[in-house]
Amino acid sequence: MDVMKGNIQFLKGVGPKTAEKFTKLNIKTPFDMLYHFPRDYDDRRKIKKINQLAVGDKVSIVGQIVGQGRLLKNRRRLSVIQFAFKDETGRIFITFFNMPYLKNQLESGISLIVNGEVKRGLHGFEMVNPVYTLLESNDDIKMDKIVPIYPTTEGLKQNLIVSLQKYILQLASNNIEDYIPEDIRVKNRLCSLSYALKHIHFPENEKQLKISKYRLVFDEFFLLQLGLASIKKSIAREKNGIALKQCNAFLDLMNNLPFQLTSAQKRTLEEILEDLQKATPMNRLVQGDVGSGKTIIAILALYRCVLNGFQGVMMAPTEILAEQHYQSLQEILQPHGVRIGFLVGSLSKSKKTALLKDIAEGNIDIVVGTHAIIQDGVDFKQLALAITDEQHRFGVRQRAALVNKGINPHLLVMTATPIPRTLALILYGDLDISIIDEMPPGRKEIKTVEIKGDSKEKAYAFVRKQLVEGRQAYVVCPLVEESEVIEARSATEIAEELSNTIFSDYRVELLHGKMKPQEKERIMTSFKKGEVHILVSTTVIEVGVNVPNATIMLIENAERFGLAQLHQLRGRVGRGSHQSYCILAHEGRSEIARERMKIMVETNNGFIISEKDLALRGPGEFFGIRQHGLPELKIADIFKHVKILKVAEKQVAALIKEDPDLKLERYPSLKKALEDKYRHFYEESGFS
Ligand code: ADP
Ligand code: MG
Repeated sequence: MDVMKGNIQFLKGVGPKTAEKFTKLNIKTPFDMLYHFPRDYDDRRKIKKINQLAVGDKVSIVGQIVGQGRLLKNRRRLSVIQFAFKDETGRIFITFFNMPYLKNQLESGISLIVNGEVKRGLHGFEMVNPVYTLLESNDDIKMDKIVPIYPTTEGLKQNLIVSLQKYILQLASNNIEDYIPEDIRVKNRLCSLSYALKHIHFPENEKQLKISKYRLVFDEFFLLQLGLASIKKSIAREKNGIALKQCNAFLDLMNNLPFQLTSAQKRTLEEILEDLQKATPMNRLVQGDVGSGKTIIAILALYRCVLNGFQGVMMAPTEILAEQHYQSLQEILQPHGVRIGFLVGSLSKSKKTALLKDIAEGNIDIVVGTHAIIQDGVDFKQLALAITDEQHRFGVRQRAALVNKGINPHLLVMTATPIPRTLALILYGDLDISIIDEMPPGRKEIKTVEIKGDSKEKAYAFVRKQLVEGRQAYVVCPLVEESEVIEARSATEIAEELSNTIFSDYRVELLHGKMKPQEKERIMTSFKKGEVHILVSTTVIEVGVNVPNATIMLIENAERFGLAQLHQLRGRVGRGSHQSYCILAHEGRSEIARERMKIMVETNNGFIISEKDLALRGPGEFFGIRQHGLPELKIADIFKHVKILKVAEKQVAALIKEDPDLKLERYPSLKKALEDKYRHFYEESGFS
């Protein structure tokens, strides 16, 4: 099937321009195309007449455009075009957002099949953004068909994708190699791959669709878990680790903390200390919403490790966060003689060389830093505890790389992003979980409001009031440089504007990812000290930053951020005893953006937000999978298809039992399919 892996451009009817558009959908080859599954189906067996419609119906209608399309008032630059559409029984309206070019394409008298949901509009029934198919006069409309509806992009017509799929299926016809061995297929009652691929695109009835979907969903879960199993196998750790014992000095520190631990923190710490006392290496995930106080737990665990004469390491996703952890560690542990090293990519060569030597010789007890820690050349004398902070920013492979810096060290991973249980089982199946489900006392719920661009003055006045009271503010903007593509206001511009005009009597500073680390550090330090009043920043402050006196988080163009990110940003305030505020400035053009704002205003609970986030993203963007560098799931849904997930899991377990090293000698095509899918992943992680 070589042609299947060739450039799609060489297919009949596809030129370079069209091929270019397909790359936007991540389709480069006919093979990719086959795996571009329909997002829905237009069941033409259920075509209805207009006078039979009811609100909420998801149906197809055959009819004609009546008259000209009407461009409705441009609300906030959003273009809306509406057509009257009739069949012999009545009339409805069909409305399209952001497709002004339709005005010329859909002329009066043109026949269409439209498929969508019937809604009640201002002037009777309406379909918004329906999928439409032009009916040529010589088309014999087959009303008894189920027609696939594909995810598409501007300028790519449904019709083209449909006919290409048909063509590619023909091309591939008998050449689709089934990599799932027959015995496994029989055992799990799976149809053949070629059947599945054919009928996922062109089912003749529900049953065919169901059978095909089952097979393809199974495949994705099966390969995912097989891939993970082989990765985990390559990092499997032996049972004998390092037991870290209780000691008196530890209790001294515990009794002299600047605050009392919450009971959730105490419980988590106890779980960790218990793990550390065992010779079996700890594998623990600490999950706690932003601001719940995870850092102190990490510091205490590290101290226990050092008191036992071993080294510990803590890795954070950004330099700013690493720097902050470094300072906290210094503050709490240096007085007790603990030697702490700070390792980030931007260190000068000579400093780095010296530091690496100290780490290797054991002159440093705790190393805190960024990804720089997992680079080659960083060797520990005797690493006993590895911690990753904000684990959701790291992949499985980085976690593995960190662990591999020692000989069976204990591992603690911390995250504020709640992970749905099923996914946690796949990704962290080998981890125990502690949950910090309580905030330190005295915190006030952050008040969140959304404002439109034109009420910015009021927001600034409010910021000023807080500054007068001695508080500090963050202003977050999505971009550093002016970009034509994304019209967000640049951080630089906003910083200048604020410091030259409205807040000229205060100190406004800028922080973004492209600045020199020393510069970032200098600014963060003066913000921490309260010398800087307003910090204008890009998302570099998204995770972990902790300045309790900052009480305002003003997010510009909030509609550009995802829910999880907004929640993380908001978590930068509300870290002290003062009432804090989050102001979401946005234009709220799309429905999904408005929905996100509403959720943010309604709740402060990270778990709820994460669930809603998933619901809003919908199928296609499977939470967490991509962040972890794993191949994307195209059709399988870890929530909807839990049963199939379990079936695949069982099958993987059986396979491992029979073939513990997963050599897959009996199944060469399965081996190849797995390698193809995970090649990128294996290469990056350095496992083979
Ligand atoms: P996160 O869980 O988001 O990493 P941090 O560890 O940064 O949270 O803690 C947030 C703030 O709360 C810090 O200023 C920290 O010193 C403070 N803090 C943590 N635990 C407590 C506690 N038990 N009582 C009071 N303040 C606490
Ligand atoms: Mg943190």
